[in-house]
Amino acid sequence: GLKAGIVGLPNVGKSTLFNAITQAGAESANYPFCTIDPNVGVVEVPDPRLDKLTELVVPNRTVPTAFEFIDIAGIVKGASKGEGLGNKFLAHIREVDAIVQVVRCFQDENITHVSGKVDPISDIQTINLELVLADLESVEKRLDRSRKNLKGGDKKVVQEVEVLEKIKEALYNDQPARAVDLSDDERVLVRELHLLTMKPVLYAANVSEGEAANADENPYVQLVREFAAAEGAEVVPISAKVESEIAELEGEDKEMFLEELGLTESGLNRLIRAAYKLLGLYTYFTAGVQEVRAWTIRQGMKAPQAAGVIHTDFERGFIRAEVVSYDDLVAAGSMNAAKEKGQLRLEGKEYIVQDGDVMHFRFNV
Ligand code: GDP
Repeated sequence: GLKAGIVGLPNVGKSTLFNAITQAGAESANYPFCTIDPNVGVVEVPDPRLDKLTELVVPNRTVPTAFEFIDIAGIVKGASKGEGLGNKFLAHIREVDAIVQVVRCFQDENITHVSGKVDPISDIQTINLELVLADLESVEKRLDRSRKNLKGGDKKVVQEVEVLEKIKEALYNDQPARAVDLSDDERVLVRELHLLTMKPVLYAANVSEGEAANADENPYVQLVREFAAAEGAEVVPISAKVESEIAELEGEDKEMFLEELGLTESGLNRLIRAAYKLLGLYTYFTAGVQEVRAWTIRQGMKAPQAAGVIHTDFERGFIRAEVVSYDDLVAAGSMNAAKEKGQLRLEGKEYIVQDGDVMHFRFNV
């Protein structure tokens, strides 16, 4: 499965946010592929398209798609040198597909800040520096090895050394590896290094309870927004404390509480959607009377692989897929109407599944 890791300095609100995530938690029986581990929280992806399909089809049940958040505790200044949980912490980050960095934007004199005062930009830089240092070590090690292989005259090795030099230069200038302009070929060459600063990042700006509805008036949030804009990263303002309270409520109580706070939806939902987007994922749907369901794929997946997300048998025995786009289906009003309009396509093994496709697979068992 795909995973987003939650990182941040101590006392910024990571555990509070993570608790909200697990409280709001998805029914894990629906997601057998998800990990059962106290540091893993499974979240369902809110998607209005799924609600609309449910209205159209009126199935017995509706199942959203899900992904995992991992609580990665333990980063402190010096982590790349083995301080705190150091290397163990960095190894956990290596395994995730995207990073959600929680930054403290709330004031509370009773809660110690590790560096003495609330300063989100300095916090971000502290963490980013550790990631940059860890990557520098990986890149330099690899460079040493690749340079030795240069004598062989292999073109690929030459190219690899060039790419590594480029990345090293960026890291020396405190730039993340993801800021380096790389071709697809070059990207492949460094993929196996699993560089930490290659992973996409979003900042969750943790504001105090009273600011949940108008977080953008918090000057720290503004600073984080400016910093993130320069990096091309997203910011989601959120009050972890409020989210942990929302997560304990359901149905009408939840609606009422959100209304009292002046919110139209929970910050957690916004965070989940932003993280899903950050992971670069697509959603396709299956829409039968038994079950309407959203499934997650990586962009560029072909129909058999996409079918394999449901079951490996679907991939192995794949014959073809019947596909209608979500927009066409909704405009037509029903599957039959879409069929009459010629919008139900038959697609084969080479079809690249699009976001919002409503799919029905034909397969041999
Ligand atoms: P972590 O070390 O990053 O996991 O931080 P925690 O989630 O344990 O939070 C540290 C302390 O800050 C706890 O006492 C939280 O209750 C408190 N805290 C977290 N978010 C907020 C907030 O928005 N406002 C206030 N006042 N306290 C918060």
